[in-house]
Amino acid sequence: MADVEGLASGVIAGERRALAKALTLVESTRDDHQGEAQRLLERLLPRTGRAARVGVSGVPGVGKSTFIEALGMYLVDEGARVAVLAVDPSSTLSGGSVLGDKTRMVRLAASERAFVRPTPASGSLGGVARRTREALLVCEAAGYDVVLVETVGVGQSEFAVASMVDSFLLLALPGAGDELQGIKRGILELADVLAVNKADGDGLRRAEQAAAEARAALRFLRSATDGWTPPVLLVSAREGRGMALVWERLLEHRRLLERSGQLEQKRAVQQESWLFSLLREGLEARFFARPDVKASLDDVLAQIAARRITPTEGARRLLALADASASATRG
Ligand code: GDP
Repeated sequence: MADVEGLASGVIAGERRALAKALTLVESTRDDHQGEAQRLLERLLPRTGRAARVGVSGVPGVGKSTFIEALGMYLVDEGARVAVLAVDPSSTLSGGSVLGDKTRMVRLAASERAFVRPTPASGSLGGVARRTREALLVCEAAGYDVVLVETVGVGQSEFAVASMVDSFLLLALPGAGDELQGIKRGILELADVLAVNKADGDGLRRAEQAAAEARAALRFLRSATDGWTPPVLLVSAREGRGMALVWERLLEHRRLLERSGQLEQKRAVQQESWLFSLLREGLEARFFARPDVKASLDDVLAQIAARRITPTEGARRLLALADASASATRG
């Protein structure tokens, strides 16, 4: 039984140990921890909402961790407090979190004003994203001015991260069209700021070319924020160049969201979709855990395979099981 009150006070006072413990509680998948985690979050909620929430994404190898360390160090030097969280659904497949690698972001992790949290190395994307959302709230309550949420996945996790941040920064590699097209259109559309990394040494010319192509591509896409055209910047995470400009653009984007009322609206929509995704997940889990559904599922699948019934009819029969018990409890 955790001392939720003590933990909440510690988090609010900015104690790192309390923060780490709170995050462990929130990330726990143990049933008996869920209630405590929710009580903790309820205590912290009034202290949330003030940080700049920024998502950082890009294909593996683009330089995300190098970049986040460079941007984080820049922000820390500017006097900000920075927390870094990650969404890494692939870790279950690769058998260990990439982010668990101790060599990542060592300088930033060592800073007094920074907090780097590797992602829990297990769970579905939905589960990981849920815990990251809650971890984000805990970091905000602990007084971090900026929370950087990194995605390590290649696809789905970008959408999960975009659904919890104010601004989404997409990193791209230098190189000709093919590489830019490697970024799926849907993900390009999420970008509020696009930065071509590795614009240094031999890479500079190719980075310029990639930036020109990105600008052309972005012209045909609808920006997620009204009145905003995503800027395309050149950076070198390794040399720490371009960080001030990236941050300036991200702030500009956030100021526009605030001024226009879109920030409030965006966060309200995010809260709503968070609720609905939890409901969908919960309903699905409950449905498949039902003994009558388990008992009938194989039979329905077999009938569909034998072409005796359609999947539509199969679904109707299975869903009718849930309907029957719902009306039984009503009547
Ligand atoms: P991640 O997989 O996206 O997190 O990428 P990493 O940060 O691990 O970087 C992948 C590789 O790219 C490493 O070998 C880095 O040293 C290198 N790298 C990262 N940023 C830069 C940069 O700005 N310029 C150059 N030349 N290399 C970089």
